[in-house]
Amino acid sequence: MKHFSVLGHPIAHSLSPRIHAAFGRQTGIELKYDAIDATAEEFFDTLQAFADAGGVGANITLPLKQSAFALSSSVTDRARRAGAVNTLARTGDGWHGDNTDGEGLVRDLTGRHGLDLRGRRTLLIGAGGAARGVAPALLDAGIGDLYVVNRTSERADALVDAMGQPGRVHSRYLHDLRTLGDFDLIINATSAGRGASLPDLPLSLFSPRPAVVDLSYGEAAIPFLAWARANDVRDVVDGLGMLVEQAAESFALWHGVRPQTDAIYAELRAKDVVLATAD
Ligand code: NDP
Repeated sequence: MKHFSVLGHPIAHSLSPRIHAAFGRQTGIELKYDAIDATAEEFFDTLQAFADAGGVGANITLPLKQSAFALSSSVTDRARRAGAVNTLARTGDGWHGDNTDGEGLVRDLTGRHGLDLRGRRTLLIGAGGAARGVAPALLDAGIGDLYVVNRTSERADALVDAMGQPGRVHSRYLHDLRTLGDFDLIINATSAGRGASLPDLPLSLFSPRPAVVDLSYGEAAIPFLAWARANDVRDVVDGLGMLVEQAAESFALWHGVRPQTDAIYAELRAKDVVLATAD
């Protein structure tokens, strides 16, 4: 039986083992998929031990995606543009890295929630692994100008530089948000909600009623999305659908077949504490 895993820290919350088990049952593919806790310091040794024990594929999550990119011996174009890897496949001479986060988000927003992304003036809050993964896919999906803000502004600058579209993608300071005008789409790609906190943002962000997305799901998505709802935003989406869709993309890379996602999404949503209300 082929062995897969998700590596990250912390990892106990991960829904990936359950999602991949469901995909395996649905497609009739036998697999083992577990979760391995690895800090940034432990990552290389832990991944090597996983490979030595027969591991053939891994999902990589917070805070390891940029390290995974660095160790990949080959990467897909979308992983290269992101500078971050969330999916590793074992090859003869190392690991092949891909990034399915962006495709997962775009599929969820357009397919499941029916949002037309074309031309949307977009604000991306955060510049970590998740932000780097979704930015290229959002641009490819036809959004309008993309503004990136981050607590550590140098990381926003680096993300914008990596996109290579200076007239369309802009880095700004968080404290400049009040002067940037209206956005049609606002995406929180920070992990602030994990500490039940919010990035420091002005209320005026929500005045034109943009679609608001938090890449987090479960309790971590509550602070930002509840704040948006309290300010009359109607199109509010958390990261649960993205999670399921990026997993399906990883599954397709490893097994050559893309599973159906609606059943496992509905199952997880029914048990979840935050509801996506854009649909
Ligand atoms: P990283 O650790 O790579 O990046 C974290 C980001 O959050 C950085 O931009 C960091 O800013 C910012 N941040 C953290 N705390 C605060 C705070 N208190 N105020 C403002 N900014 C803050 O994490 P990831 O990018 O991998 O993950 C980000 C979130 O996205 C997580 O909650 C994760 O669960 C979610 N995610 C969801 C996925 C899905 O499939 N739905 C897939 C991937 C991620 P700084 O640079 O200044 O430290």
